[in-house]
Amino acid sequence: MRIAQIAPPWIAVPPEGYGGTEWVVKHLCDGLVARGHDVHLFATGDSRTAAQLHSLFPTQMPDEIGRTPYDARHVAWALEEIAADGAFDVVHDHSGFLAIAFGGGLRERMVHTVHCAFDPAAFGFYEQFRDAVDYVSISDFQRTLGPTGMRWAATVYNALPVEGWPFRERKDDYLLAFGRICEDKGFHLAIEIARRTDSRLVMAGVVQDWYRGYFEQRIAPEIDGKQIVYLGEVDEAKKRELFAGARAFVFPILWPEPFGIVMIEAMASGTPVIALRNGSVPEVVPDGVGGFVCDDVEAMVAAVGRLDEIDPAACRTHVARRFSVDAMAAGYESVYRALTA
Ligand code: UDP
Repeated sequence: MRIAQIAPPWIAVPPEGYGGTEWVVKHLCDGLVARGHDVHLFATGDSRTAAQLHSLFPTQMPDEIGRTPYDARHVAWALEEIAADGAFDVVHDHSGFLAIAFGGGLRERMVHTVHCAFDPAAFGFYEQFRDAVDYVSISDFQRTLGPTGMRWAATVYNALPVEGWPFRERKDDYLLAFGRICEDKGFHLAIEIARRTDSRLVMAGVVQDWYRGYFEQRIAPEIDGKQIVYLGEVDEAKKRELFAGARAFVFPILWPEPFGIVMIEAMASGTPVIALRNGSVPEVVPDGVGGFVCDDVEAMVAAVGRLDEIDPAACRTHVARRFSVDAMAAGYESVYRALTA
């Protein structure tokens, strides 16, 4: 099939630091090309992809997120290019809201993956555009929070190439908390769990401007550089090393996580996940195999003492079976085929 993929313009595909959607787009394009499709990616010029790359802007601009009309320019340009081309079988949008709102004039069917959670603003948007395009959810759980009547085509799980992740059976002596540092992801609870279990906690991840207050008030005062360590935003190589070396990845999330890529990154590295039962967690982590799905912090504390029950190889195998790039590409391929049949 001839497939157009529209990425957001803010972060290159793949990202250098933070960027969940951009990694998914990267793997999806590569996976679809490997399956023999003719894939065209609309993204910034510094992107690296097996697809044919089309760019309006030469480089990513993470500092401009939400501040400039560059996303409107990127999406309007991509829609024009796609219309002028006239030969795509399907258009797959990952770019946020604009392509859904303004892509109605296209001849091609449009698929949109909902990469975000349904906060009140997003809920209202998707309610208004509930059947404008065909939607894909990234977990079954995610759908339960969306407006009724949304035209869901399928759930297709996010994925990663397991072979690109280092695997370590023997672990170093630390727990890991990793991701966007914000209250929803429960970093303050990770600190509590580390203290209550006398464990060393290594934290890493981006502090976005709007969560700086949380970081300064709840996290920074706890960092002592010995038991509670914060490494800042780390590069991809360091991130993989941190995941592979950790005794466990602690994920005390306090929000309805729509997927949580960090959980599959941990399991791919043979690292058990100790998570709160919220959002997609039970769908992604098989309790007792990929780690422990816990009802409260008390149970998470207890789980730290039970880590020897988890087999690192089984964690990795679970990701290879359930969250492989080929499974994701095949999932989207069946969506495209069903919609264009
Ligand atoms: N990530 C990263 N650096 C950071 C924070 C996050 O590379 O400082 C990556 C993380 O490893 C994962 C993605 O960004 O691949 C975040 O996706 P996830 O679904 O876990 O969370 P989101 O931030 O989208 O809610």
